[in-house]
Amino acid sequence: MASPIDSKETPAKPSNFLRQVIERDLEHGTYAQRHWAGAPGDAASQQAGALDPARIRTRFPPEPNGYLHVGHAKSICLNFGLARDYGGVCHMRFDDTNPEKEEQEYVDGILDAVRWLGFSWDANGTSHLYEASSYFDFMYRAAEYLIEAGHAYVDEQTPEEMRANRGDFSKPGVDSPFRSRSIDENLQRFRDMRDGKMADGSAVLRAKIDMASPNINMRDPTIYRIKHAEHHATGDKWCIYPMYTFAHPIEDALENITHSLCTLEFEDQRPFYDWLLDRLAEGGLINTPHPRQYEFARLNLTYVITSKRKLKQLVDQGHVSGWDDPRMPTIVGLRRRGYTPEAIQLFAERIGVSKADSWIDYSTLEIALRDDLDPKAARAMAVLDPVKLVITNWGEVMGGDDKLDPCSAPVHPHAPERGLRKFMCGRELWIEKTDYEDTPPKGFFRLFPGNKVRLKYGHVIECTGATRDASGALVEVQAKVVPDTKSGTPGADAIKVKGNITWVGVADGVKAEVRLYDRLFSVPQPDTSEKDYLEELNPDNLKMVTAYVEPSLGAAKGDEKFQFERHGYFVADRKDHREGHPVFNRVTGLKDSWAK
Ligand code: ATP
Ligand code: MG
Repeated sequence: MASPIDSKETPAKPSNFLRQVIERDLEHGTYAQRHWAGAPGDAASQQAGALDPARIRTRFPPEPNGYLHVGHAKSICLNFGLARDYGGVCHMRFDDTNPEKEEQEYVDGILDAVRWLGFSWDANGTSHLYEASSYFDFMYRAAEYLIEAGHAYVDEQTPEEMRANRGDFSKPGVDSPFRSRSIDENLQRFRDMRDGKMADGSAVLRAKIDMASPNINMRDPTIYRIKHAEHHATGDKWCIYPMYTFAHPIEDALENITHSLCTLEFEDQRPFYDWLLDRLAEGGLINTPHPRQYEFARLNLTYVITSKRKLKQLVDQGHVSGWDDPRMPTIVGLRRRGYTPEAIQLFAERIGVSKADSWIDYSTLEIALRDDLDPKAARAMAVLDPVKLVITNWGEVMGGDDKLDPCSAPVHPHAPERGLRKFMCGRELWIEKTDYEDTPPKGFFRLFPGNKVRLKYGHVIECTGATRDASGALVEVQAKVVPDTKSGTPGADAIKVKGNITWVGVADGVKAEVRLYDRLFSVPQPDTSEKDYLEELNPDNLKMVTAYVEPSLGAAKGDEKFQFERHGYFVADRKDHREGHPVFNRVTGLKDSWAK
């Protein structure tokens, strides 16, 4: 599958429907008169502030229940990118309204990932880092306001009755017998809920909208439920918690968000988002004009899965070594694999945003990486599947068997100012096993008896034979050096050869552990069929080899990226690579090996 997107022809910032909405709002001054107190707050507190210095406000609101993945990266690039491009601010908000155990590890990991991607929530001298749980008091007040205004009621039907009375697509719902309670009675019961006088599941607070609405989300949605559970931030202060659909619009409103971007599955929630904020604006509780929700297609990337819950399962069951395993589509995994923030941003820009769900081919991500690394990565030679090549006439021609011939190559072919890498050619070299054949197939121009090839950056050699062990495995290749043919000398062009092979000297080559990662799953759309997605894991997604690399790599730093000539892009593993024990991960090949 080739990428439909050509890097050279795509403008850096193509327009999209979200940019059009923002540009229209800026032109009309939709939000130009809003005030901002410097912190989230209700209408009164915001109005006491000055005009909002941010032209737009967006937010990235993850639940701190796992590590972020490439789908979140799309959302991060989108929200922070739009704020940056339009003189706005993007808020970093932890959506922690669920009283679940919050793990500090996830909170830290999320902040790290956003920072690493190149974004910041600091703007206008303020850190816009917020926690939704700090809005619980306001949410409770908003719920009482709805009750007082006749827009909410406490329903004490059983969950089964509520489900049955909701109706379905073809059948309108039936009003709850509790729907016509008086305001005072509703307030009393809601306070009983809050005060811990009622058991989990015995009642909920519902918005009073329309049980016959064609949109089931508008059939008196639940906005508060009873849950006797401790919250990591508010402890046991609350035993009722707001539903996400109630909490989220309020979080946006208190933070002066202008454009609240979410994925398509929330489209049917938009009418309730607007209904709720319209009611709270009528009551003078929130700043106006209130935020608007816009939906975009979530990222589905082929050959991986993007669900925190399922990624957690891969970690917990040991299918990968951790959240940062280089095969994982998590941001920490991509980072350890050798992806750069620039490549991920480029990818996000290229895929853009749309209103229709689709799958993006994994190669689009790899192409963005190559486009980013090609001009940056230092080149190096590495032999991943080594066999020894012995140049039998070396001593004769070079003046001694242990004579070494200094060779050099540019650090980067298009950046001569970056200087030269130096390495030694000698009597014994490491070459790729696949560069030798006893009887060459058609079109094979590398080593076979009688054929001449150039040792890249070195001399031309002529293959004379090879040695195999009893099982037929190749153990050594022999050749003769052709005098006066060294690359870069006047004699270099005396002989024309069709093949050019990479090599590493036995004398100065460095032994390295190389981890050849491949796609996590072997099917393009894992977890979309009847099959258990665990059975769709690619069994060959990691091959470890002992390789030899040129001496310049002996000084590689963890996280440093290289292009291994002929092989692709590699990174010194940020965790395991160290002096004396080099470890390189394959990021991606030079071209798409999965292309059909
Ligand atoms: P998951 O199902 O993997 O847990 P989520 O949507 O529940 O994902 P949140 O932490 O709630 O994860 O998401 C934070 C933000 O990231 C949300 O605004 C959500 O819309 C966005 N997001 C999550 N997954 C994707 C995706 N695949 N593509 C684009 N945006 C995404
Ligand atoms: Mg979630």
